[in-house]
Amino acid sequence: SPQARQFFVGGNFKMNGSKDSIQSIVQNLNSASLPSNVQVVIAPPAPYLVWASEHNKQPTVEVAAQNCYDKASGAYTGEVSAVALRDLGIPWVILGHSERRIIFKESDELIASKTKFALDSGLKVILCIGETLEEKKAGKTLEVCKRQLEAVLDVVSDWTNIVIAYEPVWAIGTGLAATADDAQEIHKEIRKFLSTAIGSQAESVRILYGGSVSGKNAKDFRGKDDVDGFLVGGASLKPEFVDIIKSRE
Ligand code: PGA
Repeated sequence: SPQARQFFVGGNFKMNGSKDSIQSIVQNLNSASLPSNVQVVIAPPAPYLVWASEHNKQPTVEVAAQNCYDKASGAYTGEVSAVALRDLGIPWVILGHSERRIIFKESDELIASKTKFALDSGLKVILCIGETLEEKKAGKTLEVCKRQLEAVLDVVSDWTNIVIAYEPVWAIGTGLAATADDAQEIHKEIRKFLSTAIGSQAESVRILYGGSVSGKNAKDFRGKDDVDGFLVGGASLKPEFVDIIKSRE
């Protein structure tokens, strides 16, 4: 039931921020009175992970990397190790973000392999899926989401430490969020598909909506049973991120 799934708000800073600006964001969260029943995860760029983590004083806020590789160590210049993240006390990683899929050409299989490796290394994963505008126009939204999930289902059977983020590519950074009704419909179908593979475990998997979520529109998603939270990009860099965290109050 939706009541059993803790509301989750992720903040994906992408490749933005400086020591000063990230410290300000974390201090803004520190000084806010955040609801104790909302799980918050912020994802600063890799160089600032420890900085953000050390400044955070909120017990409900944790830190995520935006990517990591499917190897513990070795000759992989420029890559981030899941094992190193664990070593530094970083509990989460975002994988499969559409910017990784599209700009950096990450395949479903690589993302699945990275998800498995991250989980095996003790990280929790925010797994992003979602269709492009072209795929949406072709009526392929669910087909694409299922294909992206299937790759992970092929290699991961325990979904306890996975949070899914449904992020339609056409809604990311465009100011054009999906409607709450449309998000609910797709989330419901995603959960149904998940349950065909992992059974009743699908009931406890959080499914976040992402794409132009703002302090203004977050409240529209209240009462949508399968929308278990948000993955927020642009607005997570602004004070309105707190309004999104509080949107279910
Ligand atoms: P946006 O990004 O909120 O800026 O649309 C969301 C995301 O890419 O995770």
